[in-house]
Amino acid sequence: MKFTIPKGDQFEIENIIIDLNGTLSVKGKIETKTKRLIQELKELGYRLVLISGDIRGNAKRIADEMDMEFYIGKDSKEKAQQMKRFEKEKTAAIGNARIDIGTFENAILSIATLQAEGIHTGILNHVDIIVPSINNALELFIDKKSLEGSLRK
Ligand SMILES: [Mg+2]
Repeated sequence: MKFTIPKGDQFEIENIIIDLNGTLSVKGKIETKTKRLIQELKELGYRLVLISGDIRGNAKRIADEMDMEFYIGKDSKEKAQQMKRFEKEKTAAIGNARIDIGTFENAILSIATLQAEGIHTGILNHVDIIVPSINNALELFIDKKSLEGSLRK
């Protein structure tokens, strides 16, 4: 989807890279609404990708269930390495922790989700937008006026 920032740039997001623990799932659980939003984004033509350190050992199963691409990134460096698969200018990242700096640095747009597991203050200089929940983050890619408004200069 193409976004135009008033008095700013125009960019097109094709890939949305999502962290699992503390981001897509909170305390190991994924809300039904989140699953619906992921489906809706796929129908809009976005490529949805999970890159996870997989601390709970269930990332592959979740990715399969939600029909998402999945890559392991055990630390920030490994996550950065996995990001080389995607064109930075067309890629957005959603995460919550220091391990996600590797994805944030390789995305044109980075979003942190606060939620119950919190965010690490070390990521603040690497994100463009902070939202309360994963659902809010995903909705930014559906209602383009919201995202354009948040990025407006
Ligand atoms: Mg996380």
